[in-house]
Amino acid sequence: MGQIFRGATLVLCDAAHQILEDHDLLVEGGRIAAIEPSLRLEGHEVLEMPGKVIVPGFVQAHVHLVQALFRGMADDLALLDWLRTRIWPLERAHDEESAYWSARVGLTEMLLAGTTAILDMATVRNTDAVFRAAQEVGLHAFIGNAMMDRDNEAGLGASLDHNLEEAERLRAAWHGKGNLRFAYAPRFVPSCSDDLLRETARLARQHGCMIHSHASENRDEVALVRELSGRDNIVHLHELGLTGEDVALAHCIHLTDDEEAILADTGTTVVHCPGSNAKLASGLCRVPELRSRGVRCALGADGAPCNNRMDPFAEMRLAALIQKPRLGAETMPARDALHMATKAGAEALGLNAGELGVGRDADLVVLEPNLLHSLGGGPADGAIVYAMTPANVREVYIGGRCVVRDGGVVGWDTEETVREAMAALTRVRTRAGL
Ligand SMILES: [Zn+2]
Repeated sequence: MGQIFRGATLVLCDAAHQILEDHDLLVEGGRIAAIEPSLRLEGHEVLEMPGKVIVPGFVQAHVHLVQALFRGMADDLALLDWLRTRIWPLERAHDEESAYWSARVGLTEMLLAGTTAILDMATVRNTDAVFRAAQEVGLHAFIGNAMMDRDNEAGLGASLDHNLEEAERLRAAWHGKGNLRFAYAPRFVPSCSDDLLRETARLARQHGCMIHSHASENRDEVALVRELSGRDNIVHLHELGLTGEDVALAHCIHLTDDEEAILADTGTTVVHCPGSNAKLASGLCRVPELRSRGVRCALGADGAPCNNRMDPFAEMRLAALIQKPRLGAETMPARDALHMATKAGAEALGLNAGELGVGRDADLVVLEPNLLHSLGGGPADGAIVYAMTPANVREVYIGGRCVVRDGGVVGWDTEETVREAMAALTRVRTRAGL
């Protein structure tokens, strides 16, 4: 038996940016089986949706679930100080249980905000805990241990061999289990030897896994990469094999013309994280220019301590707004910001989702548009990007299975999540001395 979502406004997020009013959507076997003005079929569960808006599930293409516990503990710092004095010592102080509760906090926040797929970078250890939390809720989760084999002040890192052995162990244990995928995740060039980066590219191709890293987020980082490698950051990654359609690079703010051309020519995805980029004063990613050159651009919230929200609505709104003072009000219209958070993210991860279309996975978000902060007469995509918040999310479905209902994640007790997360945070803070 399938389900008919009856009488909703469907924001398809297809190439034509269609919005269909008062339409029915049939889900069978986890996929969208029909979209019609009025489906007359017997034997299906009917979910009455008049007045509701349905969009494809949001894809957060760059997040750090292990950092969810550290929200508010590293405010008002620039990237390298933010990492060295707070984030790396805190990550180092994680244990398996604290990493699990951190992931559960982050996943709860993201699911309640309509997120159905993530690309996550964990930390050097305890990555099993992140997979375990993601497995419990069943979202599409691409996760990798953060690989770091260069020395740093916080003592977070491991040898080249240990990084690769841990990656291989995690890949063998989790890759392909349900909706879980392993992703090779070298942290960023200043943390990684050339050998580690080269080996990562080789292994990822051998096993058909994604590669996920940070690049050219901050001017000091770019200068450091030049010092270490003698090359511009993207050129260096490209020479070592870390560009291509299977590579997602977060940020990509400080690029030369040649580096932009490399990203376009190789089909590498740039994951734009406007909230994080503004808060860490990293800079402004030239997304409209990259998109017009043909660079694939997805959207991500980055970590809780650099945003401090893991909210796709906030990220879509910012992605649209921050370009307009520079390039004009018509730049980055709502439909483009919505596309980045849905279809472009799904394409970056190779998912059959990100769009409401027959044959696509039934990853759906049901929105109540008529709340005080979001009611009005305009098109639904503008309301979603400029006015709505996670408060508008009523239900979330992944492969046709309901994962969010009545303000909570199905199967998880939110009060327990908060209580256990706070206890875990106390242990981590004591160990880190922060
Ligand atoms: Zn990040």
